[in-house]
Amino acid sequence: MALEPANGSPLYSPTMSFDPLRYLGAELQSLREQGAALDIRVLGGPQGGRAIFDGRSVVNLSSNNYLGLTTHPKLKARALEAVERYGVGTGSVRPIAGTMDLHEELERRLAAFKQTEAAVVFQSGFTANAGTVSSILTREDVVVSDELNHASIIDGCRLSRAAIKVFPHKDVGAARAILRALPAGQRKLLITDGVFSMDGDLGPVAALCEIAEESGAIMMVDDAHASGVFGRNGRGTVDHFGMHGRVHVQVGTLSKAIGTLGGYVAGSRTLIDYLRQRARPFIFSTSHTPAVMAASIAALDVLLEEPDIIERLWENTRFFKAGLRATGFDTGASEGPITPVIVGDAALAQRFSARLFEEGVFAQGMGFPIVPKGKARVRTIVTAGHAKDELQYAVDTLERVGKELGIV
Ligand SMILES: *Cc1c(COP(=O)(O)O)cnc(C)c1O
Repeated sequence: MALEPANGSPLYSPTMSFDPLRYLGAELQSLREQGAALDIRVLGGPQGGRAIFDGRSVVNLSSNNYLGLTTHPKLKARALEAVERYGVGTGSVRPIAGTMDLHEELERRLAAFKQTEAAVVFQSGFTANAGTVSSILTREDVVVSDELNHASIIDGCRLSRAAIKVFPHKDVGAARAILRALPAGQRKLLITDGVFSMDGDLGPVAALCEIAEESGAIMMVDDAHASGVFGRNGRGTVDHFGMHGRVHVQVGTLSKAIGTLGGYVAGSRTLIDYLRQRARPFIFSTSHTPAVMAASIAALDVLLEEPDIIERLWENTRFFKAGLRATGFDTGASEGPITPVIVGDAALAQRFSARLFEEGVFAQGMGFPIVPKGKARVRTIVTAGHAKDELQYAVDTLERVGKELGIV
C-alpha cells in the first residue's frame, strides 16, 4: 500500500484497536458545544486588508499585520537576497553554529531602535517572554502581574517557579499594595503588557515604573502589540510614555507590526549577556532563518524611513473607531488599532463571527480561556493596508449583522 500523508494514513484510522487518546475527543466535543472551539480559517494568499480565507475574499480584521509589512517590497527583496547568499536555514542553535552576522546585525539595530544597550532575538515573542522570565527568576522570587497579561508571561512565571501575585487589570494601587506587603530584600518582577492584546488598551506603564522604583522591583514591559504602532517611529509604549531608562526588560515581537517572525528582549548589556547564556529557547532551539533576519532588518529601515505608514495606520484606526462608535456596540476601553466588539456569551461571539464571515468580513470570535468568561467578543484589528471603503464596509456589516443577532 502506498504511503499516505498523516491524516489519510490507514495507521491512524479510527479502527485502531486501542486508542488511549480517546478522552481528547470528549474534550473537543465539549469545547465545541460551549462554542469555545476556535474555527481555524485558512489563508490562501498574501496577508492583507482584504485577503482570501477559506477560499473567499473578505475584509480582514483579524491580522496583526498592522503596517502591511508582510508584503512590503523592501522586506521581500531583502529576504530573497538573504536566501541567495545564506540559504534557507541556519543548521544550528545560536550558541553552537547558528549565529550569523545577520542575527547580530538585527540585534544591534533593535537595541538602537529601542534605545537600550543591547538586544537578543528569540524564535518568537512567546519564547522571548517565557525564556526570559524563567531564566532571570527562581522559586524564591515573586512576580507581580496584571491579570490580563499574555499567556507567555504566565508560562514564564510557571517555569521559573516564582510565586505569582496577580493584580486586577491596570490597578496600580493594588499592585503597589502587593509590592509593599512583600518582605524587605524580596526580589520581585513587576510586569505589564504595553498594549493588551484582547482589549487594545494601554498598560499604565509610567505609574508602574514609579511603584517599581519605590519598591526596588525589576520593571518589565511586553510591547508585542505596541512595537511599530505606539511611540516615535513605532518604538513602543516605553517610548510613548517617555520611560526610557526606567524599564529593565523590554520584550517585543517581530511577528506583528514588523511583519516577519520572532521576538526579542531589549535591555542592559548585562541582562542580554545573561540571557545568551541562560535562556533555554535561545540555547536549545535552532536560530531564525536568514530570510527572517534580513526582512526584519529591512522592516526597521521602513519604520525609520517611511513613518507615513504608521500615520496611515492611525488614520484608519480613527476612521474605523468613529464608525463603530456610532453603532452602539460595547467596544471596551481600546486606545489603538485593536477594538473588541464585546457580546458576552461565547457561543454568540462565534455565531457573530461566522455570520460576519458569510457577509465578507473576517473578525475572529474569542471566548474563554483567551478572554474572561462572560466577556466573549469578536476582535477587530485595523491596519495601514485597509482602504477606507473596506473599513466602511466592515462597520456597516458589523452593524447589520449585530442587529440581526440582537446584539445592538
Ligand atoms: C502576540 C504576543 C506575544 C507572542 O508573540 P509571538 O511573536 O507571536 O510569539 C507575546 N506577548 C503579547 C502581549 C502578545 O500579544
